[in-house]
Amino acid sequence: MPEKLDIIIVGAGLGGLAAAVALCQDNHRVTVLEASQAMGEIGAGIQVTPNFTRILHRWGLGEALAKAGVLPEWVTQRRWENGKCLTRFALNANDRMEQEFGYQYYLIHRKDLHRILLEKAVELGAVVKTAISVQQRVILRDGASLAAHLIIAADGIKSVLNRFVTGADLKPQPTGDAAYRALLTREQMQDPELASLRLEQGPTVWLGPKSHVVGYYVDGGRLYNMVILVPQEEADEENWKLQGDVNKLRIFFKGWDTRLQKMIGMIGSSYIWNLYDREALDRWLHPLGNLVLLGDAAHPMLPYVAQGAASAIEDAASLAECLKSVPAVHSLRISLTVYESLRKPRAYSMRDAGRKNQVYFHLPDGPEQEKRDSELESGDESKKT
Ligand code: FAD
Repeated sequence: MPEKLDIIIVGAGLGGLAAAVALCQDNHRVTVLEASQAMGEIGAGIQVTPNFTRILHRWGLGEALAKAGVLPEWVTQRRWENGKCLTRFALNANDRMEQEFGYQYYLIHRKDLHRILLEKAVELGAVVKTAISVQQRVILRDGASLAAHLIIAADGIKSVLNRFVTGADLKPQPTGDAAYRALLTREQMQDPELASLRLEQGPTVWLGPKSHVVGYYVDGGRLYNMVILVPQEEADEENWKLQGDVNKLRIFFKGWDTRLQKMIGMIGSSYIWNLYDREALDRWLHPLGNLVLLGDAAHPMLPYVAQGAASAIEDAASLAECLKSVPAVHSLRISLTVYESLRKPRAYSMRDAGRKNQVYFHLPDGPEQEKRDSELESGDESKKT
């Protein structure tokens, strides 16, 4: 009979909460520590791909996902200057994802996904607390101290714990891109000029030189989430709460699809954050075998394949599976080594795919871009149905 462990998870982001759900389901005793007092998710949309959906279903969260999420039919990719449709490929149209992968593709507001995971973790017995400092020792607001068999560092891209694991201060690297993010209301989106974009069918991506824009509905179709990727102007700390200059954005997008310009013109205020990733870490597991990395703390990546949170959720599911085979605390290290060796190649392959898409999406006007566009047009699935 596997032993039940005392586990501390540092970070109540999507990855940390997912780990809490997975581990509580196996009756481990879990405490989640969060540095931020205003617990919750900043940012707006998350694309929940079928690998992500599958795990949420396994944890009994399929219904909650279906209730809060939007089911897109198609992804459409458009040319930057005139919005010409380059390609459309099926997501849930013709049951594509269900038939190919067994699960559907959802779009969800981050705060909804965060709430769903938090509620489930608490329902299963996880204790969630705010900590004022987690470095060499955990200091809680109420002054208590904690001991555990295992600490999971799910403290995000600016992880302080990964330096204890790696023994080095490996800061994330700027990718050269920054993301503006904004929400438009359903009322704003009623503008007749936008009707020809058929945005309710699913995510729309405008591809242009050095930049691309992704938009899709969240919150039961009440809000339109826009993520606008532009070259990063200056190296700045990764910060999710910087206000972006919307006027700069309007100037940058002059000459793009007039419908997109109209949407950008409607944005009242926008957050901007610089995008970072990192070279592969040699290890995710502390030599003592009691501290392990999960989510962005282990593998920050560009969001260009929509797999950052999906990878964190896969980490959580995989870690819980590996711990199922821990017959006793002293064999914990073996299970964690298996987790690390299973997850590293997959997570870093997603990071590499994001880097490839950065080049592919942002090709300058010219022969390479023309080649890409004609490849996209010849793959247009909507013309085949
Ligand atoms: P985080 O969400 O960063 O959570 C870390 C938590 O740890 C935070 O709550 C933080 O406050 C806390 N913390 C930090 N330090 C401490 C400490 N010392 N003590 C206690 N707590 C601490 N992924 C997808 O799968 N699909 C998408 O469509 C998608 N879209 C994206 C779009 C954009 C523009 C971006 C930037 C990312 C996108 N991602 C997407 C990626 C996804 O957002 C991240 O990969 C995911 O949120 C990482 O979760 P995490 O829990 O590892 O880290």
